[in-house]
Amino acid sequence: QLSKRLEAVASNILPNSILADIGSDHAYLPCYAFLKGKISSAIAGEINDGPFRSAQEQVRKSNLAEVIEVRKGNGLEVIQPNEVDCITIAGMGGTLITSILEEGSNKLEGVSRLVLQPNIGAINIRKWLIQNNWGITSETILEEDGKIYEIIVADRGNTEKSYEDLKAGLLLGPFLLKEKNKVFIKKWTNELQHWNQIMMKLQSAESTPENNEKRKEIEEKIKIVKEVLDD
Ligand code: SAM
Repeated sequence: QLSKRLEAVASNILPNSILADIGSDHAYLPCYAFLKGKISSAIAGEINDGPFRSAQEQVRKSNLAEVIEVRKGNGLEVIQPNEVDCITIAGMGGTLITSILEEGSNKLEGVSRLVLQPNIGAINIRKWLIQNNWGITSETILEEDGKIYEIIVADRGNTEKSYEDLKAGLLLGPFLLKEKNKVFIKKWTNELQHWNQIMMKLQSAESTPENNEKRKEIEEKIKIVKEVLDD
């Protein structure tokens, strides 16, 4: 059975897509998406040997080798421009996901939807999306096994509409901050606690330019999050 997290990623793939799942590990996501009738075919990309072989094995066991091709390589290097119309990248940090998109930006031709699931650092992805003219069209936040995950769905264009307040939107997610569900409140209440602890340490530490800079940065984040939570 697929995790709630990957199920939520799969539910955002447009029907009949040709999918590239980058960093596919066991290729659970493309196998599931095909078996649920969500995609017509897929490429599962993996950089590392072990996961690459697990993906091959899973595809073979599921009798899906004709429709899911497992390719070894770094990021979007495993696809050609106009080869796929949807890309999923899940279970990595936001910085890594962003660098995969940036390094492979010439491969995004023909891609109309990105479904991205960062474990941390979603802000980096949102910044990249806005700079590269991808508009966020929906977001999900969910908790599974004590961990909180965000899913960002982006389609080409329409970047402005989703961000009423750019700073808050980039940090918290333009849709998530409007919905403000229980998981969202839990995540940001925890973050606030964490930042408050850092602030206490910084306040008792000596005043260096780096410490002051860090303090300003956290103070700003605290202000943004408090405003949204208290609203
Ligand atoms: N996507 C699956 C999921 O969400 O359950 C697997 C997540 S797993 C934590 C991350 C996978 O990404 C690993 O199998 C790793 O080998 C792969 N990976 C990391 N960097 C990559 C890159 N630059 N290109 C392709 N795969 C990468």
